[in-house]
Amino acid sequence: MDMVLVEELIAACASLHRRVSPRQIIGVRMGLHGGELLGIEVPQSGKRLFTVAESDGSWVDGLTLATNCSIGHRNLRIEDLGKIAATFVNSHTGKSVRLAPRTDARERARLYAQTEKGNWQSQIVGYKSMPDGELFDVQAVEILTSVSAYLSRPGAKAICAECGEEVINEREVCRDGQVYCRTCAGAGYYRLLPGSADDRFRHSDQIPAPTGRGAGRGNNRRQPK
Ligand SMILES: [Zn+2]
Repeated sequence: MDMVLVEELIAACASLHRRVSPRQIIGVRMGLHGGELLGIEVPQSGKRLFTVAESDGSWVDGLTLATNCSIGHRNLRIEDLGKIAATFVNSHTGKSVRLAPRTDARERARLYAQTEKGNWQSQIVGYKSMPDGELFDVQAVEILTSVSAYLSRPGAKAICAECGEEVINEREVCRDGQVYCRTCAGAGYYRLLPGSADDRFRHSDQIPAPTGRGAGRGNNRRQPK
């Protein structure tokens, strides 16, 4: 393990946040080990490595810095299962490994940080230096959506028959001979508030607040007049 690189990546990750955290270190270590297991030099300069992270959070910044896989480069995907875990795919061969911290990683970290008192600090020190085999469980896996399906093809475009919006990357749905976006096909992540379809909101005080399921934390605040 290249400790200089580990320290550099951790410092870069911490600079994006208020401070360094154990999870950021796990993200860095996981990205480096994922590349190593697949024989891909990381942080990569090309696009051979494709990463699927199983939650969001600051640890994904560590993962991004260690691998150079990112949302913008289209080689980092979030499949939000609420886990600190990731699958690393060699997009040329399909070979894939899934890494997750061992369930006893916290306890093991203490063995590498015996002079540290608190849990937080002993995890920070331990996670930096403990061997990969003590920090991670590794599984050989096959991803169910292929990298080529995740990436689709350049120029792929469809127009939704319902809302008229353009859908890229072949994310449209065909139903009864018509093409729809997923939202209009009933598989969206939001619902329109009553009256929204015809309105164009140009000022924040014109936008109605939701009242039902899915309303945000500010839901009980007084509505603007
Ligand atoms: Zn639509």
